[in-house]
Amino acid sequence: MSTLLPDFAEMARALRAGKVSSRELTGDCLARIKRHDSTLNSFISVYPEQALAAADAADKAIASGSAGPLTGIPMAHKDIFCAEGTRTTVGSKMLDNFVAPYDSRVVSGLAAAGMVSVGKTNMDEFAMGSSNETSYFGPVKNPWDLQRSPGGSSGGSAAAVAAGLVPAATGTDTGGSIRQPAALTGLTGLKPTYGRVSRYGMVAFASSLDQAGTLTRSAADAALMLGAMAGFDERDSTCANVPVPDYSATLNDSLQGKTIGVPKEFFDDGLEAGCAQAVQDAIKQYQELGAVVKEVSLPNLAMSVPVYYIVAPAECSSNLSRFDGVRFGYRTESTGDLADMYTRTRSEAFGAEVKRRIMTGAYVLSAGYYDAYYLQAQKVRQLISDDLSHCFAEVDVIMGPTTPTPAFKLGEKMNDPVQMYLNDMYTIAANLAGLPAISIPCGFSQNLPVGLQLIGTQFAEGLLLNCAHQYQQATDWHLRTPVISGGAA
Ligand code: GLN
Repeated sequence: MSTLLPDFAEMARALRAGKVSSRELTGDCLARIKRHDSTLNSFISVYPEQALAAADAADKAIASGSAGPLTGIPMAHKDIFCAEGTRTTVGSKMLDNFVAPYDSRVVSGLAAAGMVSVGKTNMDEFAMGSSNETSYFGPVKNPWDLQRSPGGSSGGSAAAVAAGLVPAATGTDTGGSIRQPAALTGLTGLKPTYGRVSRYGMVAFASSLDQAGTLTRSAADAALMLGAMAGFDERDSTCANVPVPDYSATLNDSLQGKTIGVPKEFFDDGLEAGCAQAVQDAIKQYQELGAVVKEVSLPNLAMSVPVYYIVAPAECSSNLSRFDGVRFGYRTESTGDLADMYTRTRSEAFGAEVKRRIMTGAYVLSAGYYDAYYLQAQKVRQLISDDLSHCFAEVDVIMGPTTPTPAFKLGEKMNDPVQMYLNDMYTIAANLAGLPAISIPCGFSQNLPVGLQLIGTQFAEGLLLNCAHQYQQATDWHLRTPVISGGAA
């Protein structure tokens, strides 16, 4: 029995019918990790004993008839979520030795739903990056082509799911870090509305943008996982007190008469031809499903990357000031006075991209530059948000590409931060406006997966999942899997 059953529903059926146990599914994941992860580098930590113990508990729940739809299904967490008693590194030397004293809401929610975590996945350092190359633990390989990046910052989660090492994984998305890697590895990647999922116990990068979500094969799987992650949590003051609908119940709603807005700015010169074709074909498919397509405009879209690269570094420079060698994480071995200890600790334990962001952030927040940069960026952020609101007065969903190109080569953009930042030109607007968005596989270009992005209004996750599911009922892009050189099991 392979974990590569097409979706959670089939796994749950097999588990309940006694055709497979959670211990077998989990053992199969652990074996695949052992076999392939020296090639992919998608995991930072793997916990076989804990995972098998959780699987046994799930098997008991199944036997006693108290199992839910996720009970016994293995998964992995991005190494940004605290899980009690285990290492949580955020892909950084700074937290290489940090053992979390408590569970994040995402970890406890999925554990309570019976999912079995097998370990923690690789990621860009502090979730800063678009290629998974800024990780202290080395780059992750894209299972579709080992020379290429799986995207970032949730690159480990994406590679692990795409390669079938686990059926699903969590991610976080501050400017595109779930959707972009989902697009580049042929997965379904959901970033919920800001505040839909509690940030409690999730290491902070840019607190007004960070949001947890899922990397799965299908929208149906994402619907089940989101249900277990979402909901009010008083430990996160920005968590929304909005009821959590049954996301699975609306997956089969008809798309007849739904309106899709296609922003003309998404189809600019930067969009690779094969990606443009796949996305256009997908939009046609939606017309066949009964949707009505309308051109819309996001006039300030071009400002989203510059605005993000002021707001996100500003927030990170503040958030990362807590890593000073005193309370937790790395501390320099060299001796000196307190100021010296702070400086050396931070110089030695943060990587180049994190330092670049902290310096940029401190600069744009400094007296004399605050008004010209930070305040101005916040104003333009509002304009981008207003552009999206204007579109949603006319349409139900916005659609376009997730990324300008398919997966790029490892090393290709590392020496040019601006080229790296431009990867996120289609994803950042949803974060700046706090809106939910999903990327689903919609074809191939240069034999590499292409992602279609759907953006919705606040708390429209149900509609996005419904649109994604209907497309996945009519197509099979989400079922295509890569063959990892060395032989996939
Ligand atoms: N690639 C973007 C960045 O480097 C987004 C990262 C993210 O969403 N965590 O900041």
